[in-house]
Amino acid sequence: MNKTVVIGSGFGGLALAIRLQAAGIPTLLLEQRDKPGGRAYVYQDEGFTFDAGPTVITDPTAIEELFSLAGKRIEDYVELLPVTPFYRLCWEDGEVFDYDNDQARLEAQIHRLNPRDVEGYRQFLAYSKAVFKEGYLKLGSVPFLSFRDMLRAGPQLARLQAWRSVYGRVSAFIENEQLRQAFSFHSLLVGGNPFATSSIYTLIHALEREWGVWFARGGTGALVQGLVKLFEDLGGTLELNAEVTRLEAAGERICAVQLKDGRSIAAASVASNADVVQTYAKLLGHHPIGAARGASLKRKRLSNSLFVLYFGLNKHHSQLAHHTVCFGPRYKALIDEIFHSPTLSEDFSLYLHAPCVTDPSLAPPGCGSYYVLAPVPHLGTADLDWTVEGPRLRDRIFAYLEQHYMPGLREQLVTHRMFTPFDFRDRLGAWQGSAFSIEPILRQSAWFRPHNRDSRISNLYLVGAGTHPGAGIPGVIGSAKATARLMLEDLQ
Ligand SMILES: Cc1cc2nc3c(=O)[nH]c(=O)nc-3n(C[C@H](O)[C@H](O)[C@H](O)COP(=O)(O)OP(=O)(O)OC[C@H]3O[C@@H](n4cnc5c(N)ncnc54)[C@H](O)[C@@H]3O)c2cc1C
Repeated sequence: MNKTVVIGSGFGGLALAIRLQAAGIPTLLLEQRDKPGGRAYVYQDEGFTFDAGPTVITDPTAIEELFSLAGKRIEDYVELLPVTPFYRLCWEDGEVFDYDNDQARLEAQIHRLNPRDVEGYRQFLAYSKAVFKEGYLKLGSVPFLSFRDMLRAGPQLARLQAWRSVYGRVSAFIENEQLRQAFSFHSLLVGGNPFATSSIYTLIHALEREWGVWFARGGTGALVQGLVKLFEDLGGTLELNAEVTRLEAAGERICAVQLKDGRSIAAASVASNADVVQTYAKLLGHHPIGAARGASLKRKRLSNSLFVLYFGLNKHHSQLAHHTVCFGPRYKALIDEIFHSPTLSEDFSLYLHAPCVTDPSLAPPGCGSYYVLAPVPHLGTADLDWTVEGPRLRDRIFAYLEQHYMPGLREQLVTHRMFTPFDFRDRLGAWQGSAFSIEPILRQSAWFRPHNRDSRISNLYLVGAGTHPGAGIPGVIGSAKATARLMLEDLQ
């Protein structure tokens, strides 16, 4: 029997493969790299474990659902640990804001910065909850295949002022600039510029308040392993080192996938978790539909890229929180440059991951494993030579962290590695090295985003950051639910 094939084992690909396999559809999951997880790859260096990408686990219910629909219990596969505070936010003037789920603690900190913003924050939270209900609970995992679907959602989107930006909406409620940053930076976690992304993304705040922030014991890689085990326990097959180089079509149907090793695998239907631009431009570029879609997708606006620096120290910095956002001297001007400038900014804002705060097993005893990331332009915006820029930026970031957050860092350094926009492009196949695929602005969202099922090639589906609803673990797991629904309707 021809197989159902999922290309790519990111969270979206894995979640889709589990849903199909759990519904009795024999599924083959093909991954080009030597480990599963996609952006959630894992590096192990000198006794240190580094999660390569996602570390902030939100909406655990979406993950639990994958286990329960398969008749299994998540506890038998992976343990999720609560993280408090959710994030520590720090500014260069010494201001620190511990952002968590305790209303009284939050309001006390807001009051310290600007008493009038306590009421403003309450109104913002109410707004964010309304957006969460409409944008996430109702629309986050349903496919938008026709413009009618978009029109149906129109009145709610209009009522919630979805055309405004995240920062614009936050500023309507909150006066203090640092608090505006504290409640608007979240869209950056999924590749959205807070000054351009639809205010729908303020839902992330309500989502975190609803279900908390979690971390898997053993790291995000342990969650990936748990999902792989679930898929295999259900009878699914995962092949690593299996790069798909071409989708074979007969007219307007995909009939096989070709692999780099020369094999051709007949396919009843194919879902791609690979980069959406490359899916059309590269894998299907020989077909008129693939060539046309690929060319049109190349004109879309892309999310930024990231510079990520993983490092192991012979010291555990117990003064740090698990997640720290280190705001630099500029906010809007810096973000403008990240999204639009052909050069690298002199300053940066950083996200610092210190997982040993929650799980010391990720480093040798007494040591600490860390990563720090800086949002940077993608290669289409800034055509930089990262073999030169990478080491320079590394040195600047190490010096900055040592001065502001981690005294003695460079003397304590045991190991480090970098991941630059070149790696997003070359290791993950990301078009222009974008870290989060198509930028989540309103005119590239929902129906305007590449659809979960191709409108012409009826057995070609998409899953992951490039399709609806978008990037982030809850987003791509939601995309898997939307895509699985279509595939199961079509297959059964
Ligand atoms: C550094 C970083 C930190 C992040 N932090 C967070 C966070 O804290 N919380 C959060 O929710 N989100 C976070 N995100 C976003 C989140 O990680 C991603 O949006 C999400 O994991 C993307 O999943 P995906 O399903 O789109 O697949 P991807 O992870 O993009 O995986 C796609 C897979 O397809 C494979 N592939 C590509 N082409 C082929 C081919 N031709 N043949 C076979 N296989 C192929 C790739 O190798 C890859 O394994 C972060 C992202 C990054 C980069």
